[in-house]
Amino acid sequence: MKRILVTGGAGFIGSHLCRKLLDAGDEVVCMDNFYTGRRENIAELRADKHFSFIEHDVTEPYTANADEIYNLACPASPVWYQKEPVKTFMTNILGAKNALDAARQCGAKLLLSSTSEVYGDAKESPQKETYWGNVNPVGIRACYDEGKRGAETLFFDYHRQYGMDIKVARIFNTYGERMAHNDGRVVSNFIVQALCGEPITVYGDGSQTRSFCYASDTVDALVRLMAADKSETGPVNIGNPVEITIRELAERIIALTESRSQIIEKPLPADDPKRRRPCIEKAKALLCWKPLVTLEEGLRRTITYFQGTI
Ligand code: NAD
Ligand code: UDP
Repeated sequence: MKRILVTGGAGFIGSHLCRKLLDAGDEVVCMDNFYTGRRENIAELRADKHFSFIEHDVTEPYTANADEIYNLACPASPVWYQKEPVKTFMTNILGAKNALDAARQCGAKLLLSSTSEVYGDAKESPQKETYWGNVNPVGIRACYDEGKRGAETLFFDYHRQYGMDIKVARIFNTYGERMAHNDGRVVSNFIVQALCGEPITVYGDGSQTRSFCYASDTVDALVRLMAADKSETGPVNIGNPVEITIRELAERIIALTESRSQIIEKPLPADDPKRRRPCIEKAKALLCWKPLVTLEEGLRRTITYFQGTI
């Protein structure tokens, strides 16, 4: 039985990851400060005797007694990470440093949940791991984008300087059950709006694209990456390469929910990336992995979840 620490474990992806690790027979310690995470996300996990919870802010140092650490703690929705940008940046940088120090002290493997945002408003599509990105370092998304880029830098410097076993996953837009109603990201916004008969808020003209990966596929890839050989540090893109415009996503959700909601346009936020699509050739080869859940099926399941919570 491995002992595994998941920071950000009360969040959307983190709670799915904790469930998967418990199902595999591991002992799971979840650390979170409930900034965007929710007690209800971990309520069912608490029933498992191999699950424990520590309320802690990862910007403060901590020790761990673990074989593996997944460092997920960080708000991921632009709405939430822009509310307190200084805190977001520090959660990324100090959170990475504190996780690295804790892992180094106890000899744990350490995985960073980085992001497609390191590619910024990409000038290449699909985005490969070798692309260095196009990020505005002083814009409203920088606290998150540059925070993650800085965290990646720290991970690789600890790897080179101290020989640490690190894994860097660059996660692309992930959606599914346990997203919060007020999360602010596009899939949960559109589903909640469609189910409540409210206008569907497309930002800009909706021609910008994203590629959506269902949570179980993302979590499966994270676990596979953690299990990879020490020589495999990443970065590795994790996502579903099926690209869709935001307007098309709105239309699909309206159709699947049989909603009478109308699409309205709202201003496009600054620096909103125009095209996002992962190249996942590296993940396919390294992890023997590919996404299995189609957008249609994943949206159906997510809609069913939100129907049960509204
Ligand atoms: P989320 O907001 O649901 O979860 C983040 C969790 O981290 C929450 O439980 C939150 O309370 C916790 N947290 C935030 N700041 C903290 C702090 N200072 N100390 C302790 N806990 C803290 O987001 P998510 O979608 O589950 O994302 C999880 C991770 O995956 C994040 O690192 C995010 O950057 C990364 N990621 C997610 C996506 C996606 O599409 N969901 C895409 C790319 C990267
Ligand atoms: N978006 C939208 N309406 C919303 C929320 C988001 O049109 O209610 C757009 C947003 O401008 C972006 C895309 O949907 O182009 C994805 O946004 P999200 O916040 O989910 O994640 P991002 O990929 O931008 O981090």
